[in-house]
Amino acid sequence: MANTPYPQSYYAASANPVPPRPALQGEVETDVCIIGAGYTGLSSALFLLENGFKVSIVEAAKVGFGASGRNGGQIVNSYSRDIDVIERTVGPKQAQLLGHMAFEGGRIIRERVAKYNIQCDLKDGGVFAALTSKQMGHLESQKRLWERFGHNQLELMDQKRIREVVACDSYVGGMLDMSGGHIHPLNLALGEAAAVESLGGIIYEQTPAVRIERGANPVVHTPQGKVRAKFIIVAGNAYLGNLVPELAAKSMPCGTQVITTEPLGEELARTLLPQDYCVEDCNYLLDYYRLTSDKRLIFGGGVVYGARDPANIEAIIRPKMLKAFPQLKNVKIDYAWTGNFLLTLSRLPQVGRIGDNIYYSQGCSGHGVTYTHLAGKVLAEALRGQAERFDAFAGLPHYPFPGGQMLRVPFSAIGAWYYSLRDRLGF
Ligand SMILES: Cc1cc2nc3c(=O)[nH]c(=O)nc-3n(C[C@H](O)[C@H](O)[C@H](O)COP(=O)(O)OP(=O)(O)OC[C@H]3O[C@@H](n4cnc5c(N)ncnc54)[C@H](O)[C@@H]3O)c2cc1C
Repeated sequence: MANTPYPQSYYAASANPVPPRPALQGEVETDVCIIGAGYTGLSSALFLLENGFKVSIVEAAKVGFGASGRNGGQIVNSYSRDIDVIERTVGPKQAQLLGHMAFEGGRIIRERVAKYNIQCDLKDGGVFAALTSKQMGHLESQKRLWERFGHNQLELMDQKRIREVVACDSYVGGMLDMSGGHIHPLNLALGEAAAVESLGGIIYEQTPAVRIERGANPVVHTPQGKVRAKFIIVAGNAYLGNLVPELAAKSMPCGTQVITTEPLGEELARTLLPQDYCVEDCNYLLDYYRLTSDKRLIFGGGVVYGARDPANIEAIIRPKMLKAFPQLKNVKIDYAWTGNFLLTLSRLPQVGRIGDNIYYSQGCSGHGVTYTHLAGKVLAEALRGQAERFDAFAGLPHYPFPGGQMLRVPFSAIGAWYYSLRDRLGF
C-alpha cells in the first residue's frame, strides 16, 4: 500500500515526535467519519469528541500532510474577503453573524494550545504592511470595520512606527493586530491529533477515502476497509480531488511556495523583526514572513493557479525575500516547499451539507489557519442540531469559475495578473 511521507519542509524536520498511526483494515462503525486530518478535520473532531460523539478520521497521508502542516504559520483574523464584502453580498443580518465569528478562530487556537498543552511556539502579534498610501487607507477602514465587530486589539502604524517592528524600508505604514500571531503549523496539527486521541478519537493514516456511499447510513470506503457512520465530514480541502464532484466544480486548488533560511542567529533575527511579529503585505498576491523559534526566516509568496508544483521554488521566492531584506543576500536557504490551498471565486469559504448527513467546509482561499478552527466548531454545532451559525456560512453564494474545469486556470491567472499589476502601479 502507498506510504505517503511529509514533503521535505522545515516543519517536517522540526516536528514533535508522533506515535505510529496504522491504516484502516476492515470495517468499523462510528458516529462521525471525518475525511482529512488537517485543521478542519482535527478541529471538528475535537469539538465533537468534547460533546460525546464517537469519531474516526481517515487521512490519505499523515496528520497535517496538507496545507495545515505546510503553511506560513500566520494566525490571521477574519476571512479571505472581509466582512464589508460579506455585508454587500448577503446583507446585514447574515453579515452580523459572520462578522462576530471572524475573530473566534484565533481564540480557539489559543484555547486548544492551553487546554491540551500543545508545544507549537505560539507567539502573539501580526502585522499587515502597506506598500502604498492606498493600501494604508484600506487598513484604516479595515480597523474601523473590525472595531465595529468588537475587535479592538489593533494599532495603526505610520512609516516610522512600522520600521520599529520590521526592518524593511518598503512600507508606508501598517496595522498591528495583537490577537494575530504565529505558530509552528505542523506541531499545532500534531498536538491537536494527540488531543483527539486522548479523548478516544481514532485517526487512520495512509487511508484515503476512495468512495462515499451516500444514503441514510453513509459509508466511507478506503482501499482496505470501510467506515460506517451516522455523519460524514468532508475536510480534504485542496487535496480532495474529485471525491465529491459537486464541490470540485466551484473551487480550484492553487499552490503557494515557502522558503526557510538557515538559522540567522539572535542578533540578525532581532534586527529584522525585533518584536518577533509575523508580517504579511497588502498586495493581492501577497508576501508573508516570520521568524521560527530557532531564528530562521520563513518567507512565502506567490500563487500557482491549478496547483502545479514549480520546478525551482527558491528561484521564485528568494528574490521576493531579498527585495524585502537585501541584508540577507549571503544567507543560505535550507528548505523550500510548496503546498496547496483551495480558492473559491468569491474567496469565501464553501460550507454546506449534501443530503442529510454529509457536511463539508473548504475553500478558505489562503487565509485558513483561524477559519478552519472556527469551522470545526460550527460543523460540530450543526451536527448537534444548532445550525444558526452553520447556516450563515452555508448561505454564502458560490459560483463555478469562468471557463469551467478546462479554462479556469488561465482565466484566474489573468485575473490575478491584473490585480497584481494594479498593486505594482499603486492604483
Ligand atoms: C504554503 C501555504 C501557506 C499558507 N499560509 C497560511 C498562513 O500563513 N495563514 C493562514 O491563515 N493560512 C495559510 N494557508 C492556508 C491554510 O494553511 C489552509 O487554509 C488550512 O490549513 C486548510 O486546512 P484544511 O484542514 O481545510 O486542509 P488541509 O490542511 O489541506 O488538510 C486536508 C487533509 O485532507 C487529506 N485528504 C484529502 N483527500 C482525502 C481523502 N480522499 N481521503 C482522506 N484524506 C484526504 C489530505 O491529505 C490533507 O491532510 C497557507 C496554505 C499554504 C498551502
